[in-house]
Amino acid sequence: MFPKEEQACIGGQRLAPESLMMSYGYNPAWSEGAIKPPIFQTSTFVFNSAEEGKAHFELAYGLRQANPDEEMGLIYSRLNNPSLEILEHRLCLWDGAEDAASFASGMAAISTTLLALLKPGDVVLHSEPVYGGSDYFLKNVLPKFGITAVGFRPHATPAELTAQVAGIEQGRLAMIFVETPANPTNHLVDLEACAALARQHGSEENPIRLVVDNTFLGPVFQHPLKHGADVVLYSATKFLGGHSDLIAGAALASRPLMKEIKAMRTFMGTMCDPNTGWMLMRSLETLKLRMERAATSAQVVADWLRRHPLVERTYYLTHLEHNPVQQDIYRRHCLSPGSMISFDIRGGEKEAFRFLNALKLIKLAVSLGGTESLAEHPATMTHSDISVPEQAEMGITPQMIRLSIGVEDARDLLLDLGQAFAAVGVPSEVPKLELA
Ligand SMILES: *Cc1c(COP(=O)(O)O)cnc(C)c1O
Repeated sequence: MFPKEEQACIGGQRLAPESLMMSYGYNPAWSEGAIKPPIFQTSTFVFNSAEEGKAHFELAYGLRQANPDEEMGLIYSRLNNPSLEILEHRLCLWDGAEDAASFASGMAAISTTLLALLKPGDVVLHSEPVYGGSDYFLKNVLPKFGITAVGFRPHATPAELTAQVAGIEQGRLAMIFVETPANPTNHLVDLEACAALARQHGSEENPIRLVVDNTFLGPVFQHPLKHGADVVLYSATKFLGGHSDLIAGAALASRPLMKEIKAMRTFMGTMCDPNTGWMLMRSLETLKLRMERAATSAQVVADWLRRHPLVERTYYLTHLEHNPVQQDIYRRHCLSPGSMISFDIRGGEKEAFRFLNALKLIKLAVSLGGTESLAEHPATMTHSDISVPEQAEMGITPQMIRLSIGVEDARDLLLDLGQAFAAVGVPSEVPKLELA
């Protein structure tokens, strides 16, 4: 077996994830000394002997326990593939996870994980709002399998949440599913409080798993496993991929939970393909650089927006002075506000659309976490599936615009935002910023 642990330390000191993204889990001797792992573009793997094939299948199908130091052998690319295994080992480093699985999309990671950990009769308690696809899966797909989804409102107090859990029939609550910060409001959910609830009401026979969609801040700026989460999920399409050129997802958890999730992935065939796995590894090399740079620009943009006469309010994680509860969660969970900003433009949908249509450098598109800045209108785009009264309860307004800030120069972003505000009717002053 390849000594990954030795690679991760120098003189007993553990190296930072960003230092390991170029080399961890790969031995150049496997590939003629190539410094980068090749793309293992293969469907199947040749066994050295029939006995070896038998041994690999015994492990893959759980017919016997692994010997010490024995890893699952390569069989077939729906089960495992080196391009994905190296990627998965690297993904573990950011979140401090024991194991990870890569998926064909964020929705593949979410749906596979939920189907792996839930059974008919179970109840999932989930935060609101969540990503539109997750919302649909929870409310329209899971019920077909006899699983009930119950949402909790953004400003539910710990007492209200406890009452909601107490109202669920004993033994039926199997999962608390949380997206934090929430898309598109940046609303934070207290993971430590949710983990305490799960522990308090769960038991060995009926565990309650805390599953967290960490797409918005992770894996650099928030680490839910450290706050009591059992599973962390990602749309790797966003920051992990980071260049708006691939669709992928990931799940991270303890080894026993990942065994269940990977088994479901094998039978649903929702794994990532080797080429996408390789692209993700390339992206991981610059992950921290990209996320930090985007967050620096986002802070400048958010502060500028907050002072703009056409902006009614901003939804941004360092603009929480008036909300001590949210500010406290931010201090406990988040290492940075990240690069997602929502704001309410004065007026309504008409003004929001005029603004969006006038943008030049910032592209009008859904998705987020890429190198380029994007803008969209949640009420009629990403969250249009949610009824208007429900949108209102979740804090999604008709005049809300969501920005994903990329790695462009911050001054140029302000120039673009300024001219778009001018198109709505109020010219803006763009401060003289030093080019970074
Ligand atoms: C985009 C997104 C998803 C879905 O991911 P895909 O890769 O598009 O399937 C899930 N959760 C959040 C928070 C997202 O932003």
